[in-house]
Amino acid sequence: MDMPTPLAPACRVEGCMIAVDVVLQSSDNELFGAHTKNLECFNEGFPPAGWAKKVDEVVVLTESSAVLTLLLGFTHNSLALPDLEDGDIDIDNLLSLCEAAEKYGNFIALQACRRGLKNRAKTLDPDGLLKVLRYKVCRFDSTDINDFARRTPGIPVKEVWSFYKGYPEVYYLWSRYQIAWAEWDAEFDSAMDINSYPVRHLNDVRQCPELDKYLDYFRGSKKVSGIRVTWEVFNSNRMFVNGLPGIKTMCGCGAFTKWTANIQKVFERQPRWEDFTN
Ligand SMILES: [Zn+2]
Ligand SMILES: [Zn+2]
Repeated sequence: MDMPTPLAPACRVEGCMIAVDVVLQSSDNELFGAHTKNLECFNEGFPPAGWAKKVDEVVVLTESSAVLTLLLGFTHNSLALPDLEDGDIDIDNLLSLCEAAEKYGNFIALQACRRGLKNRAKTLDPDGLLKVLRYKVCRFDSTDINDFARRTPGIPVKEVWSFYKGYPEVYYLWSRYQIAWAEWDAEFDSAMDINSYPVRHLNDVRQCPELDKYLDYFRGSKKVSGIRVTWEVFNSNRMFVNGLPGIKTMCGCGAFTKWTANIQKVFERQPRWEDFTN
């Protein structure tokens, strides 16, 4: 008995006039009209196994409709590619899209995913940060990983532990990374301690009171809202302080010179995630 041919669903990409010659089904059972030629041109990994070209044979994929919508957007020669820097895209969907872009070899989508992810680093909540970290660790992908990792040492250990329950290797890496930050914090505190610069201030036996006064401006400035500052941020704070009226940035005793040389080195020793994965 002949089955009636279902009407092919339209392509969902706005303004697309290309004929639909294949139907894709998402994991949540939505149907998408698509074009074989586009799928093959834009995705190195197409056609996947079980590929059927007839419209009445639906190709079932494991991606959700949200992810397929985005992926198909990157499967058209269009000026209006999906905007992955849009904060409205759920982080789970964005990560699933990264996965799909990698799986099907859609390099335009993959590049957009990386840019989109990097852009989100500053606004993700702890769960989002831990998700991205896990995603990257599980794929041995260290692209921009420090942008995410350096925002996680402030997350309570208990929270991280329960989040990474099924991923002990990620938790192990994170713990080592977190310990390294604790050590760095202590190193920073010491670099900001006047007693670390035991030079005699001019004809005095005291440590340099000018440097001591100067360092007061920076105590507690290793973090901004829980996140360790980078050298760029710290240094621009320093430039700001240097410009304040009544601030001395030099002293004949040489304590400032010692401090300046030391502080930059301390920042160069900030932990980097990749130091723990190699
Ligand atoms: Zn189309
Ligand atoms: Zn001095």
